[in-house]
Amino acid sequence: NLSERLERSFKILKGEGKITEINVAETLKDVRRALLDADVNYKVAKSFTDSVKQKAMGMNVLTAVKPSQLMVKIVHDELAELMGGKAVELTLENRPAIVLMSGLQGSGKTTFSGKLANMLKNKQHKNPLLVACDVYRPAAIQQLHVVGESVGVPVYSEPDNKNVVEIANNAIREAKAKNYNVVIIDTAGRLAVDEEMMNEIATLKEAVNPDETLFVVDAMTGQDAVNTAKEFNDRLDFDGVVLTKLDGDTRGGAALSIRTVVTKPIKFVGTGEKMEAIDVFHPDRMADRILGMGDIVSLVERAQEQFDEKQAKELEKKIRKNKFDFNDFMSQIQQIKKMGNIKDLAAMIPGVGKAIKDVDIDDNAFKGVEAIIQSMTPKERANPDIINQSRRQRIAKGSGSKIEDVNRLLKQFEQTRKVMKMMTGGNSSKMMQMANA
Ligand code: GDP
Ligand code: MG
Repeated sequence: NLSERLERSFKILKGEGKITEINVAETLKDVRRALLDADVNYKVAKSFTDSVKQKAMGMNVLTAVKPSQLMVKIVHDELAELMGGKAVELTLENRPAIVLMSGLQGSGKTTFSGKLANMLKNKQHKNPLLVACDVYRPAAIQQLHVVGESVGVPVYSEPDNKNVVEIANNAIREAKAKNYNVVIIDTAGRLAVDEEMMNEIATLKEAVNPDETLFVVDAMTGQDAVNTAKEFNDRLDFDGVVLTKLDGDTRGGAALSIRTVVTKPIKFVGTGEKMEAIDVFHPDRMADRILGMGDIVSLVERAQEQFDEKQAKELEKKIRKNKFDFNDFMSQIQQIKKMGNIKDLAAMIPGVGKAIKDVDIDDNAFKGVEAIIQSMTPKERANPDIINQSRRQRIAKGSGSKIEDVNRLLKQFEQTRKVMKMMTGGNSSKMMQMANA
């Protein structure tokens, strides 16, 4: 793991009073090895450490700053710079604007098409149309329909047509006629780069002249991702990269070397299977993450986005009146689940990432609790105080859980209610963060 390795290298510098030729050289040797281990291209790693060295040597170490801290800052800024400096947005100027997906099979094109459509619709008030140009497997067309339905975006497909240029052109015509302003074209991929696939996608690109051709790549494939990126870029001259599956074992290396080897910006990252699991790529935050500082900015943004302000106010009112009930409890659980995989979120908190890695908390963690609440009558949910022993037994049976589980939940609920009551003097959003934690 790159961040662990880097952390260890910096430890060497701890306690040293100033940055000298000797301790920099030692640290950078470790940094370079760490980068290579994380599948960073050799040339990239070398030019990276050279440039860090130059910067570090020129620095006067203030007494207030430890050399290790200064090195972290230099490495951080250099990483961010290497990954492109600033976030790069999509340019969707044409009416309709056309976005073409490319990439190997399984890289996440279809999933990302849905995520992007969802994001454009909800955050930029666009009116997107998804187009199924993966014509080789009937299941692929069906998959895009499922994705489209789940985000409420229409899908254009021609199940009996194998000519993707025709399909795309028909879809664009349809978009013009029905005022769709973004056309997102999902395409077929192969397990490895092959001539036929490259021809097809290159022909398609030439025919529709997209505003954005995006190369979608699985971040977990490491050095392979870099090679694939290069082959696609040589052929397609794409506009940006989408790095998916960053929720897995994060390979900072892929982001780093793809950016340098193909000199195209990484525009988005995928952080899960759900339609909300998409983030704009921020080089500085990625540098934080690689260094193990945690992607706190993304975390806070995502949490704020998912949390409905109005609901918070209503909840606060209820708590003030001590009316917080199991319906609210349940909607809290839904809120948390909507935020995506909990482990991903928790892993972004500095210091938590590593500790939580082996702990199994995911959506399933709530299954038992949800079942118990669902087995309560509406009256019980609204008035938890009436849940006596015989009601508890019935709920346990109904939900297939043990009576102890029901007791435990009721006890926890009571405690939550008490804590909430105590906090009602405070700031509501802060309180909700604590309740969600
Ligand atoms: P395609 O063949 O390129 O269209 O890839 P798909 O969109 O069908 O995705 C392949 C698999 O990867 C599916 O099981 C997706 O749910 C999964 N997937 C896609 N993006 C992500 C991501 O960001 N994180 C995770 N964990 N899984 C993803
Ligand atoms: Mg697909």
